[in-house]
Amino acid sequence: MKQLTDHAFWLTSATGAHCYWLDAGDRVAIIDPGMKPGLNPVARELRAAGRSPYEVTDILLTHYDLDHSAAAAEWQRRTGARTWIGAEDAAILTGAVPPPATSFRQFMAAITRVELPGNLHLIDGDTELWPGLAALHTPGHTPGHHSFRYERVLFVGDTGTADADGLRPMASFIMSDPLQGLADLARLQAVGADWLCCGHSDPVRRR
Ligand SMILES: [Zn+2]
Repeated sequence: MKQLTDHAFWLTSATGAHCYWLDAGDRVAIIDPGMKPGLNPVARELRAAGRSPYEVTDILLTHYDLDHSAAAAEWQRRTGARTWIGAEDAAILTGAVPPPATSFRQFMAAITRVELPGNLHLIDGDTELWPGLAALHTPGHTPGHHSFRYERVLFVGDTGTADADGLRPMASFIMSDPLQGLADLARLQAVGADWLCCGHSDPVRRR
């Protein structure tokens, strides 16, 4: 468990995308818990740091891809936590809406569908999930993708990767709407965060 700020931590033993822990006092969130093989390693990592998985009040999913969200349903069963996901992504997981018509999205849909967690709360566009925690709709990667901002920390999901100079685009073939993805990136660059926490690059403090 690597501490980034007073409130934000990186849980390095998750499997799949990068997983983060946000301790906001009354609310404790795990952001993108990753894939099921990481469940027990993450629990051990928390315990080694004197924390407990049962502190989690909120499970935040940037989007529905399995490397970010496959462990969420089991996390939810074990903790009872609220789970937050974009409304458009939940509709894809229930099958109410087809996935975007890109070859990558069609391939992913053919091999797997993530279980939708219980105690589900849908994020509908830009909103404040609780005082100080903003969800920013960044739909370029998936239609319901959200980034999260708490104080000067930005959880980017798969909108981009980061280095100390800022954010960079993901490979366009994994974006549902690459042009929207670039607009999302420009928006996030302008948010004014000190810390950039991405799904597929290590968290960095901006220069
Ligand atoms: Zn993704």
